[in-house]
Amino acid sequence: MPDKLRKEKGLLLEIQRFCLHDGPGIRTTVFFKGCPLQCKWCANPESQSFVPQLQFSEIGCIRCGRCIKVCPVQALWQDEMKKIHYIPEKCIQCQACAAVCPSKALRTAGKSWTVEDAVYEILKDKVFFREGGGVTFSGGEVLAQIDFAEALANALHRNGIHITCETSGYSSEETFARMLKWCDLLYLDLKHWDSQKHKAQIGVGNEVILQHLTIAQKAGIPLVIRIPVIPRYNDSPADWQEFSRLLTQYQVKEVHLLPFHQFGAGKYTQFGMKYEYAGYPSLAKEDLTEFAETLSKVIPKVQIGG
Ligand code: SF4
Ligand code: SF4
Repeated sequence: MPDKLRKEKGLLLEIQRFCLHDGPGIRTTVFFKGCPLQCKWCANPESQSFVPQLQFSEIGCIRCGRCIKVCPVQALWQDEMKKIHYIPEKCIQCQACAAVCPSKALRTAGKSWTVEDAVYEILKDKVFFREGGGVTFSGGEVLAQIDFAEALANALHRNGIHITCETSGYSSEETFARMLKWCDLLYLDLKHWDSQKHKAQIGVGNEVILQHLTIAQKAGIPLVIRIPVIPRYNDSPADWQEFSRLLTQYQVKEVHLLPFHQFGAGKYTQFGMKYEYAGYPSLAKEDLTEFAETLSKVIPKVQIGG
């Protein structure tokens, strides 16, 4: 690999091993950090920002006070019980406190990786990819770091590794076309059948996603549409019918319905972020049965869960 590509850098949240729900077989999932869309129900809010971020988990704090001494802007303070309080509005994300915290109660989410280092890390798992597994690029948004993603994908392909790409599909057409050149399996999100409702929650309409869906189909890339099913947003019987109509029109062959859950709720507190879906009910698989049955009338393969 040319030196320039080996040294290409990307911001990642983590490289997670033994993942069973991010594509076929046993997979290693590479979580990219940074996303141009900001879904309000996002279960990984730390994946939205394009910079490393401070995470404070009060439960691990031993109340030593070291963090307060190094903070240049008094974004941390200690009350009379020595409990630490974090003021995210003041924080300049210098990460000085995380560097001195002995218990990792304060830690930095997001790290810069070179392609060379990421490949080295991923190849440790190569033996587990034999039975149809591989590597999944997830996020965050992979398309937002296309240079790094492309260099990493090409290096992994040289090692015979299958690549699944999980994406919102939101990018320029040129960027999307670059991704299709190395993507072996595409997981493409579709949040709403109605462009206005898509825009209301996510900030952009669904036209670009549908356009990219067509481009991927023309390129012959195996494709799964993933619908995050969100209470009071896209889970009504009328929504089931409209998704069926739209996906039939686009001749989609496989759909995964992803039930809304609250597993990421605590992270919003840890990152000092506002969470608008607190109190919304988590959906069980059974809650999506009728939605799946409606889709199954027109889509050959429908699955609940990833
Ligand atoms: S990351 Fe934020 S809280 Fe921590 S030392 Fe820097 S400014 Fe202070
Ligand atoms: S340095 Fe870490 S363990 Fe010590 S008070 Fe700060 S957060 Fe708690």
